[in-house]
Amino acid sequence: QNTINKIAAGEVVERPASVVKELLENAIDAKATAVTVEIKEGGTSFIRVTDNGCGIPKEEVPLAFLRHSTSKIKSVEDLFTVSSLGFRGEALASIASVSQVEIITKTSVGLTGTRYQIDGGIERSIEEIGAPEGTTFIARNLFFNTPARKKFLKTPVTEGAHVADLVEKLALSHPEVSIRFIQNNQNKLHTSGNHNLKDIIYTVFGREIASNLLEVSVKKGEVTVNGFIGKPVIARGNRNYENYFINGRFIKSSIISRAIEEAYRPFMMQHKYPFTMLHFTIEPELLDVNVHPTKMELRFRDGEMIYHMVYQAVANALAHKEL
Ligand code: ADP
Ligand code: MG
Repeated sequence: QNTINKIAAGEVVERPASVVKELLENAIDAKATAVTVEIKEGGTSFIRVTDNGCGIPKEEVPLAFLRHSTSKIKSVEDLFTVSSLGFRGEALASIASVSQVEIITKTSVGLTGTRYQIDGGIERSIEEIGAPEGTTFIARNLFFNTPARKKFLKTPVTEGAHVADLVEKLALSHPEVSIRFIQNNQNKLHTSGNHNLKDIIYTVFGREIASNLLEVSVKKGEVTVNGFIGKPVIARGNRNYENYFINGRFIKSSIISRAIEEAYRPFMMQHKYPFTMLHFTIEPELLDVNVHPTKMELRFRDGEMIYHMVYQAVANALAHKEL
């Protein structure tokens, strides 16, 4: 099969949040320890992502904007064996084709940095410029050249809320990176980057949730689960607080969701859902991945084993809670 077609069909850029997702993931892939995301008007007029990662050498900057030029993986199966988040090699090309892009980047070995501008996919300039190590990426006026797609954007408030959600998810999946989010010149989020998941839960969800957590830390064979689940007293009316990450990616799995909810059942009223923030590490050979451009579906080679492990881990944590 053709891996590229399998994972590249469809569009990467749907709304400001999709741009931020790609840029933030690139920053994390570049081994940045600190990333700042800044948006104005919900990201529709201005998105800036600044990182202190490895930067891009001058001669490679235009290449990075070519479709499929730099894929970080070779096959769909690699998705879970390599540590990089990017895999399509088309994000920058897609973003540059529908916005006005300016990038300033410098590597540790480069004597100067590079400034590159590309508007609607058309190169405007490339020049040397003094810059700190890392990359600043600005995308202005999303869909300025595709009015039909621009029409589908919601209000800046709604688009901004989608961006905020996305930044929070990435901050929670990467406690090792300090992430700052600035919206309309106001600081909205700033995580420490000190690896402490509980700190980030406090920052994102507030005191009530952070002070009603139970720790989960289980290893069984090729699977480990680490993180926190909420005591039943902080149950919610929807599933939005049921979060888990599989090998660093925010992914839904019906098996894991069912196992979590079944374990909570004796403690929960009907139509209430738990808070969970669990990180799974699972050997890639136990996974079966089906990739769409915007969502991933995950199956397990041995779903029964995963189900029981998750059920036990959650049930045990709940059984030991101090009431
Ligand atoms: P992918 O992430 O799938 O490889 P992208 O289009 O997102 O594709 O990025 C293209 C390439 O540009 C990346 O493979 C990487 O080499 C480089 N790149 C993009 N963003 C950054 C960044 N913030 N820091 C360093 N290199 C970057
Ligand atoms: Mg990428």
